[in-house]
Amino acid sequence: APAVFTGTDVYQRSFNPQEYLREFYRLSDSQGQPNTFLMQNLRALLKMFSLEGLRGDTLIDVGCGPTIYQLLSACEHFQEIIALDYTDQNRRELEKWLKKEAGAFDWRPVVEYVCELEGDREKWAEKEEKLRKKVRQVLKCDVTKANPTEPVSLPPADCIISTLCLEAACKDLATFRSALRNVGALVKPGGHLVMVTVLRETYYAFNDQVFSCLRLEKNVVEEAVEGAGFDMRFSEVQPCPPGDVRADCEAVLSLVARKRASIS
Ligand code: SAH
Repeated sequence: APAVFTGTDVYQRSFNPQEYLREFYRLSDSQGQPNTFLMQNLRALLKMFSLEGLRGDTLIDVGCGPTIYQLLSACEHFQEIIALDYTDQNRRELEKWLKKEAGAFDWRPVVEYVCELEGDREKWAEKEEKLRKKVRQVLKCDVTKANPTEPVSLPPADCIISTLCLEAACKDLATFRSALRNVGALVKPGGHLVMVTVLRETYYAFNDQVFSCLRLEKNVVEEAVEGAGFDMRFSEVQPCPPGDVRADCEAVLSLVARKRASIS
């Protein structure tokens, strides 16, 4: 485990989006082994976005990184998507795919897999186009700020999603709890939070860089979600494939929660 917390300055300086994608987002590795971590998360995302009421006009993705997998099932249920991340290079990498620029990551195998789960593998190109049209803005954010998109104020969304971000972004539990409140303020009362988070992970590494991770337990995450003004609607834990040297994650928690109506 890294001796110190790797904060936003480290992300901005040394998070390489292309290496991150190569390492964690190919559907099978160079030895042809399936990426079970990713496939598991894609199945959980489909299940969550199939729940009643997970639809509306706007969806905000917090800490999107350079990835789109988390939006593939989601984009079927929302009209507009706003993607947020701290680092310039991750937002730029996402824009490359959105604009079909040369050198953009090839998400096709992942999109095909999700389309197959949804019933028609042949719809991958259609889904890619749908998603490209729906992502309207890619903005800078810092989840540790009371208004994460400061100086921009976004209208509250119908749904927020965050995958593998808060445990990376928060140095301790107090910061995690307040980040959930900050992010929670981006959604309307009655709207939803969809979260995918690793449990008991202390680090992940790629490209000779080690990033710290806040070690979380399921009940701690759920209590923080409730403390941020949400009621839990769905939660599921799946074990991480063991023996991975790139991270010490033990399990993945996928959850859906609904924001309580504000009193006062
Ligand atoms: N959501 C993507 C990326 C996760 S990697 C996925 O599922 O793979 C963690 C991401 O958190 C990185 O993109 C990093 O830039 C972002 N991040 C780190 N600290 C942050 C902060 N304080 N505010 C917002 N994003 C942050």
